[in-house]
Amino acid sequence: MPHDYLCFCSKDLNFFAKHALSFNTDHSRLYMPLIKFKYFIVFLFLWGCIEDQPTNDWETFVTFKKGNFPLLIVAPHGGDLKPQWIQNRECEGAVTVQDQYTLGIAFQIENELRKRGYNPYMLLANIHRIKIDLNRPLATSFCIDNTPEGLWNLFHNQIETYRSEVINQFGRGLLIDLHGHGHTNQRIELGYLLSGEQLRNIKENEFRSSDGSSIQSMIANHPDKLSLLELLRGQHSLGTLLSMAGYPSVPSIDDPAPSKGDPFFSGGTITQRYGSKNRAGVDAIQIELNRQNVRETSSDREQFSQEFAQILIDYMHLHYYDILEKR
Ligand SMILES: [Zn+2]
Repeated sequence: MPHDYLCFCSKDLNFFAKHALSFNTDHSRLYMPLIKFKYFIVFLFLWGCIEDQPTNDWETFVTFKKGNFPLLIVAPHGGDLKPQWIQNRECEGAVTVQDQYTLGIAFQIENELRKRGYNPYMLLANIHRIKIDLNRPLATSFCIDNTPEGLWNLFHNQIETYRSEVINQFGRGLLIDLHGHGHTNQRIELGYLLSGEQLRNIKENEFRSSDGSSIQSMIANHPDKLSLLELLRGQHSLGTLLSMAGYPSVPSIDDPAPSKGDPFFSGGTITQRYGSKNRAGVDAIQIELNRQNVRETSSDREQFSQEFAQILIDYMHLHYYDILEKR
């Protein structure tokens, strides 16, 4: 648990622990009941410390890391901090479930990337989604209690800052917004801001700019001039790279679009705000991880993180190699 979150009385506790625990241990048998009582008192102090207090120090509820590679990894729904002084989101339609293990997976992917010499930009929420949904516009990110507005601003301002930094340093880049879905169909869903219906109907050279995807910059600047369709489900699309590694994905060469009636996430606020649908520079893809073979067990998660880190490196070198080579 982050230290800032914990201890309004850390000084008192340190003082108490130092003195309480310095009871003469040579006489421990003699003083056993007293020692038990001592630990009980320490427990009570700790309990008092864990009772969280309101703060404007929102840094505790997020993790930001500056990178040196034009890849931003965002995970807004994997946190588990539930400060009692922020009301739960209980309004109608509010989705409050945590995207289980996505925070840990994000860290493992980062670790794997670093091992290979790539430091991505990291933007992770440590707060639970029941308190605020950071993948929604500010106005609907909370229900009645607007206490965490400052946290929303901090998180989104930082994405904006890192996004600008990537554009200034590299010209363009890619943002991956990491989530977990609970749909029955065990496949990874990739959100390019194209609905299931758009993916089913899309045909080569028939894509209207008004239907813009979240990877418009990639298409406009692609060093090999790949088309949207090739980037969605061609040999070198993210979905196909994942499918070939044993992680069925939609859209991909094997699974071009969700069938009619299939639930499918096409991308939320983060993909819309920071991807290249509405402004050039950084592309964005929402990655919705299924459970089976991906998030189920710790070895699934470890294996997936290793494979996905390598896929991300391959993907960057396939589609952004011009900006990587310039450096
Ligand atoms: Zn999510």
